[in-house]
Amino acid sequence: MTIEESYLQLEDSIRTYNPNANFAQIRAAYEFAVQAHEGQKRKDGSPYVTHPLAVAHIVANELHLDSESIIAALLHDTIEDTSTSHEDIARLFSPTVADLVEGVSKLTRVKFTSKAEEQMENLRKMLLAMSKDIRVILVKISDRLHNMRTMEYQTPEKQKQKSFETMEIYAPIAHRLGMQRMKWELEDLSLKYLDPVGYEEIMEALDAKAEEYEDFMDGINSQISQRVQESGIKDAVVYGRLKHPYSIYRKMYTQNKTFNDIFDLIAFRVIVDTVADCYNVLGIVHDLYKPILGRFKDYIGTPKPNLYQSLHTTVMSQTGVPFEVQIRTKEMHEVAEYGIAAHWKYKQNGQGGGDENRYEWVRRLLENQEGADAEEFIHSLKVDMFADEVFVFTPVGDVINLPAGATPIDFAYSIHSAVGNRMVGAKVNGHIVQYDYKLKNGDVVEVLTSKNAKGPGRDWLKIARSSEARSKIRQWFKREKREENIVNGRAAFEAELKRCGVTLRELTAQDTLLPVLKKFSYNSMDDLYAAIGYGGITTLKAIGRFRDEIQRIVHQKQSAYYEQAESAKQTAAAAKTVQPARGKAVQGIVVEGMSNCLVKFAKCCSPVPGDDIVGFITRGYGVSVHRSDCPNASPERQAAEKGRWIKVSWAESTPEEYQTTLQVTAKDRMNLIVDISTVLSSTKTRVSALNARSTPDGFALIEVAVQVSDSGQLQTLSRRMEQIPGVIRVSRPAG
Ligand code: MN
Repeated sequence: MTIEESYLQLEDSIRTYNPNANFAQIRAAYEFAVQAHEGQKRKDGSPYVTHPLAVAHIVANELHLDSESIIAALLHDTIEDTSTSHEDIARLFSPTVADLVEGVSKLTRVKFTSKAEEQMENLRKMLLAMSKDIRVILVKISDRLHNMRTMEYQTPEKQKQKSFETMEIYAPIAHRLGMQRMKWELEDLSLKYLDPVGYEEIMEALDAKAEEYEDFMDGINSQISQRVQESGIKDAVVYGRLKHPYSIYRKMYTQNKTFNDIFDLIAFRVIVDTVADCYNVLGIVHDLYKPILGRFKDYIGTPKPNLYQSLHTTVMSQTGVPFEVQIRTKEMHEVAEYGIAAHWKYKQNGQGGGDENRYEWVRRLLENQEGADAEEFIHSLKVDMFADEVFVFTPVGDVINLPAGATPIDFAYSIHSAVGNRMVGAKVNGHIVQYDYKLKNGDVVEVLTSKNAKGPGRDWLKIARSSEARSKIRQWFKREKREENIVNGRAAFEAELKRCGVTLRELTAQDTLLPVLKKFSYNSMDDLYAAIGYGGITTLKAIGRFRDEIQRIVHQKQSAYYEQAESAKQTAAAAKTVQPARGKAVQGIVVEGMSNCLVKFAKCCSPVPGDDIVGFITRGYGVSVHRSDCPNASPERQAAEKGRWIKVSWAESTPEEYQTTLQVTAKDRMNLIVDISTVLSSTKTRVSALNARSTPDGFALIEVAVQVSDSGQLQTLSRRMEQIPGVIRVSRPAG
């Protein structure tokens, strides 16, 4: 037969199920394929185009697919093997056809290098996930089927490799999609190359049995047909067959039986119009032959997860030969033979419908697989094409399964936390990519590592998609960066606390703190800060744990404020007559009950006008003035040396300038100091010293000694500095 004749045959078979197919485009695709593969030969010496043509035959004859699928089958090797591009096909045919061909090519490019059993399921899932349009996998399976049918021309090595792939990947996918006929053929062809001896033995035994049982099967066939006809059931089709080689092979091996031990080699099918007729036929069969107990299965009432429906029963002939009878409707039969493709056909003949409708049944089919009976689905796949998963390869060909949107960071941590922690870069399909690159199905991912790697960055926590990667990154921070975590955690905690109107000092002064911490299994505030720093607990959650304490402080403050306001009213009334005994101000400080005493400002906290202050009578050096929130003036210290602490306040007029220090914590970067000095000069702040150092983990600590007139000016300055990019915290050192 010439190639042209074979093509015309294809048109004929399409016409039998789809007279309105787009024959103009189908012919154009055929002619395009002839041109594109011009000069290419198959292993058997025939022109290459015979292969895509044969695949189109399978797609039409065995799956009854639509015009687009047939065109895609004809063109399926053009992108991979010729100079044709996606654009060419999109322009000449349609973008959908181009996508189908591209999809098949992508599957063709997937290399199955792993032989590990646990990898197979991931590979199957990956192929299904890559076939966004189910027709891609249908064309690909047809392609594989034709390659298996013509495998005899390949080298023995290639035969084994392709057969293994077919047995482990493609046949299970066909089963998964309910395509029993293709599944059987794929399995039988694979078996032929994987175990040629075993295959031959079974084939010979089957041939012998076929001969032996020919008359027997004819007899059973007429008995059933006659009784069915007599009972008024119309259009019933009855036929018998021997089971296919691989199903016998598997039974022999899994149940450790010889060929002659296999109980039911013979199976009959009765195909009728209605479900009611199925049960009627069952009654007839059980009346004719003795049913074997425990062998009846009603897959009509309870369909298999891949939507297979049928009644199965095994009975004993009058002569003592057991055989199975499967009874189903025509529609059930199509589903059983062609699976997903049969559904496709019904959908196509219906009223169009969008993609969502089109895939609804696929989703249902796939969801049905959950909780499938293990024995029944020894080769089944637990696939959900719509799950949020992505499948990628390691450089040695193992498949790694990650959540959709996963990045090289997720990949690295899924290999091992040490790989993630030492990652300095990543390659996808041989090209360097950014850490936030979104991995695609089938990508080959390689992680570049170095012993000198700095470890994960904090931004990795935002980039990583998998909880596994995030928790491993957090663990790293927890372990490696305690000091930094405490600084960062404390700053974040303090800032959040401020928003509640409470200072850190006020909170930490609470004696109920330790029990609260213990309750959440922290031993100290530092532990809590560290946890916040590495992301083990959010700042808000941490604050939440001290809700009671915070509320108490706020409440106390409010009462204090009212008392003060009350007493201020009374004092104001009294002030009209009595002048308070005030000391004379020295350096802007009024010391209660003392005049002209020596006053100095404590170096530890350098107070400025506006700060709450308290005085300490030193031995011989006068009164030292501290900020009230200075740790050196803590309530414990005040209590310990009660007599030496004294009330001090700011005079109405104070000298113009006070020296104090601001401490800036920032993420280190270029020009940080420039930006800080710009703020200092734009706020007309006089600076007496500036001291900066960077930490090994990329932070900068800057101390600026400034001259200010009061705390208001200092606050303005702090606020301006906090707005500088990278600045984490501006504080006044104390203690
Ligand atoms: Mn091909």
